[in-house]
Amino acid sequence: MALIVQKYGGTSVGSTERIRSVALRVARFHREGYQLVVVVSAMSGETNRLLALAKELSADPNPRELDVIAATGEQVTIGLLAIALQELGLKAKSYTGGQVHVLTDSAFTKARILDIEVAPLRKDLAKGMVVIVAGFQGVDNEGNITTLGRGGSDTSAVALAAALGADECQIYTDVDGVYSTDPRVVPEARRLERVTFEEMLEMASLGSKVLQLRSVEFAGKYKVKLRVLSSFDDPASAATGTLITYEEDDTMEQAIISGIAFTRDEAKISVMGVEDRPGIAYAILGPVADANIEVDIIVQNIGASGRTDLSFTVNRSEYKKALDVLAGETGKGFTAREIIGDNRICKVSLVGIGMRSHVGIAAKMFKALADEGINIQMISTSEIKTSVVIDEKYLELAVRQLHRVFELDQQPHAV
Ligand code: ADP
Ligand code: ASP
Ligand code: MG
Repeated sequence: MALIVQKYGGTSVGSTERIRSVALRVARFHREGYQLVVVVSAMSGETNRLLALAKELSADPNPRELDVIAATGEQVTIGLLAIALQELGLKAKSYTGGQVHVLTDSAFTKARILDIEVAPLRKDLAKGMVVIVAGFQGVDNEGNITTLGRGGSDTSAVALAAALGADECQIYTDVDGVYSTDPRVVPEARRLERVTFEEMLEMASLGSKVLQLRSVEFAGKYKVKLRVLSSFDDPASAATGTLITYEEDDTMEQAIISGIAFTRDEAKISVMGVEDRPGIAYAILGPVADANIEVDIIVQNIGASGRTDLSFTVNRSEYKKALDVLAGETGKGFTAREIIGDNRICKVSLVGIGMRSHVGIAAKMFKALADEGINIQMISTSEIKTSVVIDEKYLELAVRQLHRVFELDQQPHAV
């Protein structure tokens, strides 16, 4: 009997009506003979509301307690969905992350899954039960409640699918698949029938929040068959959403560029006029790393008269912390003429496996931005992506312009 893990995000369970509609979809699959494990998020807006409550009491709330609070959102929806399914005459049972021993490390608010105990779930499934598991949460070795980072229910679902050896993991959300870019920014964005795992990994890591990055990593590691679909489509419509594929085959639509990802969560710091000597990058970035701040793009200028400039980007939430670290280091590890920062920047990235075999993509991208008068502040490339850092106010314009110039609204032509 085929086993499917389905995950329903916040909007999909945003009201009791939506939960009833999810129950009807689950019941339909159950009737068709599938075994089902259903992972749910908190109702939309609920996680933000819970975290904001903690912020009312403290500017810097204790992460362990934040997880205790945030995990309650999903506990509500698992119970509600179980009741909705029981009302339809199905046998259903809900479990929190702790109850199925979704064992994680102890990195509160961004924990990683280490193991899941699936034996009790298999027993329930064998009895014809629909198993409902709270997304986003787990438990560490000491029994502390942990959460997996924002968007973490995707990862709960993929991890469960991997642990159970499910035939498919279906991520139901408020769009009917992975698009060439966020359809909320570019209405002409096109749904991709398939996207390669590598491209999805880049898109997720470069800001497309349709799938949490770790869920894609997990899927790749365990070769989980992963599909993104809409929970708003008619269940009878036989929509196929977007399938994440692991092999590039010739029959697949071969676009050079598959998508555009972007993120506003960026900030840039420039350390101007530092000594141009061996070890200077380490003197600046070592303390930043020691403070657990992740650095993304790094650019160092060519030195002149023994001095140079080094710029790097960090997540906007860590901007002030990074500036403070550097302020504490200047005059000790290095000397600098000045340190300047800008937290009104964004990053826009083109992603596509065709970049491997096609030259001139980056040049075409830079021209497209220049034609709109958009200044590029930093550039970073890898085998299948080109990213630029630009002023935040040009984000939408840049994404729309690139989408148009690279004709991402069109079916890919043969290449
Ligand atoms: P859920 O609550 O179901 O987890 P999310 O809000 O986390 O849903 O993710 C779905 C959203 O991701 C969409 O509403 C869309 O705005 C956004 N998104 C960003 N990039 C893309 C993309 N390339 N394709 C589809 N959706 C995207
Ligand atoms: N409820 C959590 C969040 O809002 C997890 C999720 O929705 O995936 O981030
Ligand atoms: Mg999400």
